[in-house]
Amino acid sequence: MTISLPVLPLATPGQRYSCHGCGNCCRDFTVQLRPADAERIRLQEWESRIGSNPIVLFRGQEYLRQRPDGACIFLLDDGRCQIHAEFGFETKPVACQMFPYMLAPSETSSQMGVSFACQSVIENKGKHFNEQVPDALKIVLRGIPEVVRPARSAAISRSRRAESGELEVLKSRLVRWIQRDAPLHQRLDGLAWIAQTLSVAQLNKVRGSRFKELVDILFDALADELPLHPIGDPISRQIALFQGAIFARTEDPKPVAQGAPGRFLSTISQLRRSRSWRRGRGDTLIPSIGFGWPTSTTFDQVAQMKRLRESPQLVACEELISRWMRSSIEGGRIWGSGYYGWNAVDGLTAFVLSAATIGWLARLHAVASHAQAPTLANVQAAVGRIDRTAGRAVWLGGWSERMRLAYLVRDAGLRRLIVSQY
Ligand code: SF4
Repeated sequence: MTISLPVLPLATPGQRYSCHGCGNCCRDFTVQLRPADAERIRLQEWESRIGSNPIVLFRGQEYLRQRPDGACIFLLDDGRCQIHAEFGFETKPVACQMFPYMLAPSETSSQMGVSFACQSVIENKGKHFNEQVPDALKIVLRGIPEVVRPARSAAISRSRRAESGELEVLKSRLVRWIQRDAPLHQRLDGLAWIAQTLSVAQLNKVRGSRFKELVDILFDALADELPLHPIGDPISRQIALFQGAIFARTEDPKPVAQGAPGRFLSTISQLRRSRSWRRGRGDTLIPSIGFGWPTSTTFDQVAQMKRLRESPQLVACEELISRWMRSSIEGGRIWGSGYYGWNAVDGLTAFVLSAATIGWLARLHAVASHAQAPTLANVQAAVGRIDRTAGRAVWLGGWSERMRLAYLVRDAGLRRLIVSQY
């Protein structure tokens, strides 16, 4: 039986996108292949023409080969895709056809979202997103699994499934809070408070209308409660875990740079690098993670950089981060199939930690560009890095991230991290 799920367009008003051909996605993305993609590429018989097998095995999965600089093996000098040029758009891997559109299926529909790893999306350039829906649908309705096969809807928490309407209630209150006319650091602090509160709440006993009542009470109280609970700096253990989270959210192992090692060796190497990040302090140089990563910057320099609230382009920076948050929530990218199948509470917690990471990365880029405080360009670089791995990097959906989050919801860890960056 073939099931086709209705596709829900992204509801975020004001989001724009048209491809401007910058080629960033082909220069920096590691493209994982679905079995049908790999089969199609094998039938195109590239090996004799490009001198190597364009498919590499990395951590047990098939990927497009990359050049030593990380660019896709099929990227031509004029910025075009060689598969597209020779065989047509529809023969490219599905991930390339769809980018920057994302789909998050549930039991009844498939939510369309958009990746902020695309420069045009970040800069909000091009046609209004809703004008793109017909074109996007032509791509996604070709029978790709996210449209054809339903996926399990997100649970509310680890021990409790969502009842009808509960996820929508939470989503709509999150979006309302994000749109609030208040400084960004206060809105983010509020999200951290909500995530921490829901993480320790006994949600098994609160269902249906009582869940809605709880969510309403929490959000209605938020603006008055936050000033009553001022928060201090993060403690050293929280900082160490935060630095591990930054590494996990920015690491993008390249099959070519790693020499395509086996899954075991690659994982060990990643754990080693993660440990050196967690231990980074003072005038230690921040280890490079890859493409465009600022070099010669120390942990102390980032710690001493001004926070985002002191940016000379604060309005534009806040607009971008607010748009990223809203689009991620409405695009189904913070829980459920859009985020490792995670439940709503864990997904929200991870999302807040990603927002804290954006603050840190913006300050890192500010140091590297000799700015006095983070600029819009620094925030754009930070958001692009974070959205590149969200929902894609397998380790972000694994046990180490869960342990990190479980610790950081205690002792106001998430709030401390948000306030320290924003
Ligand atoms: S990053 Fe976005 S704008 Fe640039 S080539 Fe890719 S899809 Fe087009």
